[in-house]
Amino acid sequence: MQDIILKTIHIEHARQGSYFTVPFEVPENVERLSLRYDYPRRPGVDHDLPNGRYTARDEVNIIDLGLIAPDGRQVGASGSDKLAFTVSETDATPGYIPGPIRPGTWQILVGAYKVEPGGVTVEYEITLDHKVRRLFRGDLHAHTLASDGVHTLEELAWKAKRNGLDFVAVTDHNQFVSAAQLPRIDGITLIPGVEWTHYQGHANFLGVDEPYDGSFFTNTFEETQAKFESARRRGATITVNHPLDENCGFRYDMARLPFDCLEVWNGPMRENNFKAIGLWQQMLSTGRKIPISGGSDYHRDTPFIFLGGPTMGLYAGSRGAGDLLAALRAGNGFITFAPNGPTVELTAGDAILGESVRWAEVRELRIQADGLLKDDVLRVVTAASSDVLLQAPADGSADLVYQMAAPGFARVEILRAFLPGVPMLPALLSNPIYFDEG
Ligand SMILES: [Zn+2]
Ligand SMILES: [Zn+2]
Repeated sequence: MQDIILKTIHIEHARQGSYFTVPFEVPENVERLSLRYDYPRRPGVDHDLPNGRYTARDEVNIIDLGLIAPDGRQVGASGSDKLAFTVSETDATPGYIPGPIRPGTWQILVGAYKVEPGGVTVEYEITLDHKVRRLFRGDLHAHTLASDGVHTLEELAWKAKRNGLDFVAVTDHNQFVSAAQLPRIDGITLIPGVEWTHYQGHANFLGVDEPYDGSFFTNTFEETQAKFESARRRGATITVNHPLDENCGFRYDMARLPFDCLEVWNGPMRENNFKAIGLWQQMLSTGRKIPISGGSDYHRDTPFIFLGGPTMGLYAGSRGAGDLLAALRAGNGFITFAPNGPTVELTAGDAILGESVRWAEVRELRIQADGLLKDDVLRVVTAASSDVLLQAPADGSADLVYQMAAPGFARVEILRAFLPGVPMLPALLSNPIYFDEG
């Protein structure tokens, strides 16, 4: 959806040499702001010649352009060089600074550098593109040279882009990276983060430059609790990483710490991940609503580890870090084994993955799966059951319904035989839809 705002102003000659602004309102939920303007800079004046005609094009008007955000920040100032620009959180025309398009009163900066004696009429056309929820793929756990990885930030970003990802979180051990340090590479969002790495467990703190108070180290549970609570106050998204890893599992009592997501799929599917999925299933079965996260824990390429293995699929309003992390915290997504792995959309009434409906009103779960391969198995897991809905008869896609027999949660797993003779492994794991009692 788009809004188009037209503003026409007339500038008197007397205002030549002055600056002023033209305000316009931006509503909630806008992803991109684009502006074009036009005015007679070199209007043609025809002169008859004995043998024809000559059109003179003197520069009689010069109107400069800029953009001011609702908080007074100068987003850009392009003089009279550009007749159009675009700005979003993830990209902008050179000379303009990318940033979220917040609701409020924005201002066109008008510089009346040169105005002809009769004045000049300037027409502005502002286009506001609204956010539309769509699928983005990324990796929420990756290391660089700043800790024990082998790639620079730029190399990591390019690698993620080439692997088909839309975003990658930079999560070096106990080393923050700030948003300003992240390279801007077209088509890929880098999310600032840190992997809090402690003898008692690891956790990712995502989305803010300095996600917790002070240094990483703590020696008591109370100090750790204070650290996590400071991160919560600062607005960080917190994921508990590889909770049941043999060497660096999470040994603190998670129930007493604030966190947003459980990393149930870390790197290649293996025993630690199966245990983490089991822990998550237990938590869901006791009525907790806990979103999942997945990431490769990438340091360098190995025979089994690659960036995007697994890939987190998120249904978000834009590729901006804020929207992606909001979708992660809301559980609006799934984990798939690779960037080109299968995808799934779950709906129940108006609810999507991660959301809740009332079981008394909505009992039907709709499952649309794509990128399936022949013999893939799709099953719905609830607290009480695991029902196989499909064994794919050929490569393709599926559109299925499932009736909830009782209140609770329902989530989807797709299993695949990756190699002949090797047992089937999860190719996809979805967040649930919750069917609340009452
Ligand atoms: Zn770790
Ligand atoms: Zn790690």
